[in-house]
Amino acid sequence: MSVGPGRQGAIAFFVTFGVCLVALAAALNVGWIVLTWEQIAPLLVGVFVFAAIITGLILNTTFLVREVRRNEQHDAFVNAVTHELKTPVTSIRLHLETLRQRSASLDESKRQEFYGVMLDDTDRLLRTIEQVLRTGQAGRTPLHRTRFDLRELVAEQVALAVAQRHLSSDAVRLAPSDDPDPIEVFGDRIEIASAVMNLIDNGIKYSGERVDVEVAVVRHGRRAVVRVTDQGPGLPPDELRRVFKRFYRVPGPVTQRVKGTGLGLFIVQTAARRHGGRAWATSQGPGRGATFHFELPLARPGVV
Ligand code: ADP
Repeated sequence: MSVGPGRQGAIAFFVTFGVCLVALAAALNVGWIVLTWEQIAPLLVGVFVFAAIITGLILNTTFLVREVRRNEQHDAFVNAVTHELKTPVTSIRLHLETLRQRSASLDESKRQEFYGVMLDDTDRLLRTIEQVLRTGQAGRTPLHRTRFDLRELVAEQVALAVAQRHLSSDAVRLAPSDDPDPIEVFGDRIEIASAVMNLIDNGIKYSGERVDVEVAVVRHGRRAVVRVTDQGPGLPPDELRRVFKRFYRVPGPVTQRVKGTGLGLFIVQTAARRHGGRAWATSQGPGRGATFHFELPLARPGVV
């Protein structure tokens, strides 16, 4: 997430101020050592007190800078959510108005097209609302665990994504598997489905014009892994971990073009951790696609 010019100035000020204070304290410390060189007791007390002051100053500056950055991320998040809520509502309103004013002149196919657009807009609204609600709960709601086949659930989500986004079944596909047995996990179906859908959605929306997303479900020892691979813009190595932070969006042209809230991957990671699993990303680098991994423990035999 980029930091605005006002805050950039505030951060620069606090960092410079903090560095000056640390330099001053260090200079005083050296002076104290020179003055009390012969007397061991004041020398030790002085060095200890100055070390405490310097540590305090560094901690304080770090805290302030982090708070300024967090504030910036909240602002960007509010803007993003407002945009994500306003755009579909405006579109729905426009289509409804046209339907009302020109209902006599609109033929059936045009009307159906309008209904389709409005349904897509409501899906988009629901996705944003669900993301905000899930993040607000931040994993505090209890899990309703059942035993189910993860591959089956992922196949359902792939089919849903293809239908909702009007894509060909080639564009988003489930990788074939030679493992004939179900890959069973013991978890909250709704939460896991939402995490998988967030990964598929990202694969689609960051791919741009040419959507090419492959979803695989594999068994790895006592764990099950869902892998979502796209051929989109990819990620530089230093962003691979950061993207899972709440509200975080990689700064740059891609996130300016593709709208989002910075919540999807945080939700994915929270769901994985709550189930005793983990989520991580790999990429060959910018422009070379990305793979997101969502790992869960396999259900233990006998657990239902
Ligand atoms: P959102 O997509 O709403 O911004 P996410 O939490 O889902 O929020 O993703 C965080 C950031 O990670 C995105 O803003 C984007 O910069 C990056 N990202 C996520 N998925 C991908 C992907 N498949 N390819 C490239 N970058 C991605």
